[in-house]
Amino acid sequence: MADATAPAFTAAAWEQALARHQLPGARCTHCGAIHVPVRAICPACHSQAMEWTSLSGRARLAAFTSIFVGPSAMAAKGFDRTNPYLSGIVELEEGPKLSVRLVGLDARTPTLEWIGTPLVATFVDPAQGEGGRTELAFAPACGADPAAGAAG
Ligand SMILES: [Zn+2]
Repeated sequence: MADATAPAFTAAAWEQALARHQLPGARCTHCGAIHVPVRAICPACHSQAMEWTSLSGRARLAAFTSIFVGPSAMAAKGFDRTNPYLSGIVELEEGPKLSVRLVGLDARTPTLEWIGTPLVATFVDPAQGEGGRTELAFAPACGADPAAGAAG
């Protein structure tokens, strides 16, 4: 049942949640699918019966790439051939997969052993005076050994 007091399932509402360092999803009350970022219409069953759900923030690394030549927005943040960054696909504990930035791993020494590493959500706030939005990222879970990969 839709909660009339809950914010609409918009990109702006999701970004506001990230700015509060919260990771919400939209759960379809018709088929149970969870969508991240949130969306107003379920792509699985086309229902509009969505509800906000909080997510654990726990995930595993499904795939990643090390980016040495990124878009201009990342170049402006100081990423380049000598300072690459990681972008990956993470599978949330609740099931959805999403594309996010990875932090806490060295993009200069990527290894397939990272696949399966337990991760936790982290929130990268824009630098003081920079403006912009809080970015969702994932980092190795506390105590996780990225080299241990799927064994963990
Ligand atoms: Zn659905």
